[in-house]
Amino acid sequence: MIPTSFNYTKASSLSDALSALNDDSKILAGGHSLIPALKLRLNETDTLIDISKLSELQGISMDGNDLLIGAGATHAEIASSETVKQHAPLFAMVAAQIGDIQVRNKGTIGGSIAHADPAADWPAALLACEASVEVQSSAGSRSIAASDFFIGIFTTSLQSDEIITGIRVASQAGRMCTYQKFAQPASRFALVGCAVCASGSRDGLSNVRVAFTGVSDTPYRDTSVEAAIEGKGVNQETKDAAANAIDKSIYVMSDHFASEKYRSHLAGVMLGRALEAL
Ligand SMILES: Cc1cc2nc3c(=O)[nH]c(=O)nc-3n(C[C@H](O)[C@H](O)[C@H](O)COP(=O)(O)OP(=O)(O)OC[C@H]3O[C@@H](n4cnc5c(N)ncnc54)[C@H](O)[C@@H]3O)c2cc1C
Repeated sequence: MIPTSFNYTKASSLSDALSALNDDSKILAGGHSLIPALKLRLNETDTLIDISKLSELQGISMDGNDLLIGAGATHAEIASSETVKQHAPLFAMVAAQIGDIQVRNKGTIGGSIAHADPAADWPAALLACEASVEVQSSAGSRSIAASDFFIGIFTTSLQSDEIITGIRVASQAGRMCTYQKFAQPASRFALVGCAVCASGSRDGLSNVRVAFTGVSDTPYRDTSVEAAIEGKGVNQETKDAAANAIDKSIYVMSDHFASEKYRSHLAGVMLGRALEAL
C-alpha cells in the first residue's frame, strides 16, 4: 500500500530534531517498523524527522562502570561491538538474533524500544539487565528504568516531545546471561523470548533476573521465578521449580501464530533452556 502524504526533514542535530518534534510529526530512525506501519496506513504523520545520521545518537562507550549505547546504534553494530560483548554480552546475543542481516543493518535499538512491539527482543534484555532508557526533550533530559518504560502494547512512558538518546546499563561483566527465543520462522520476532542473568555459579545462582517478551502484551520481569530459583543450582529440580513458579496472573497473548496455551507452554520451555544455557 501507499502511505498518506507526508513531509520529510533530515535533522542536522538533536536540538534541531527536538524543535521539529510535535504531535503531528514522527521520528524516523531505521524505518524498519515505522515505514511498514505508514505503508499499511496503521500510522500516519505530517512530517518525518530523520534522525538516522545524528552523531549525538551514535556510538557505544563506557561511562565509568556503565555501558552507554546510542539510540541510533544498529542491531548489527551492537552484535559486533567488542565493548558490548565484554560488558553486556546478553545485548550482543540478543542483537544477533533480531530479524535478518538487512534488518540488523538498518534497525536501531532506540527505534525498537520506542516502537515497543510486544514480540520485540530488546525489551527482555533491558529488563533482565535492569537497564535504563536515556531521553531528551527541549526541557531537559531524564532516565527511565526499563521496568517503567514498557507500559503496554506498542506503548511506552516516552512523552511525545521526547527522543531516546541512548541505553545505559551497568557492566554485566562476570554475570552469566543468556537469551533463548522461539522465533516466528518468517520474521524472527519472538513468539516467546526469555532472558536470564545471574551472578554466582551454576552451583548457586544469585541476583537472578528473568524477563520475558512475546508472552504478554507488555514485556515483563517474572519475579516469582526469580525468587523460586535464587540461591539454587542449575539442575532439573531448579528447572521444574522455575517452570512451576511462572507467574500465572500475567495476561498471555493469543493470536494466529500461537494460542495462549501454546505460548504459556513455550514460556516454560524457553525458561528451562535459558537456565540450562547459563
Ligand atoms: C522483516 C523484519 C523482521 C524483523 N524481525 C525482528 C526480530 O526478530 N526481533 C525484533 O526485535 N525486531 C524485529 N524487527 C523490527 C526491527 O528490529 C526494527 O528495526 C525496530 O523495531 C525499529 O527500529 P528502527 O530503527 O527501524 O525504527 P523506526 O522504524 O524508524 O521507528 C520505529 C518507532 O520508533 C520511533 N523512534 C525511532 N527512534 C526513536 C528515538 N531515538 N526516540 C524516540 N522515538 C524513536 C519512531 O518514531 C517510530 O514510532 C523486524 C523488522 C522487519 C522489517
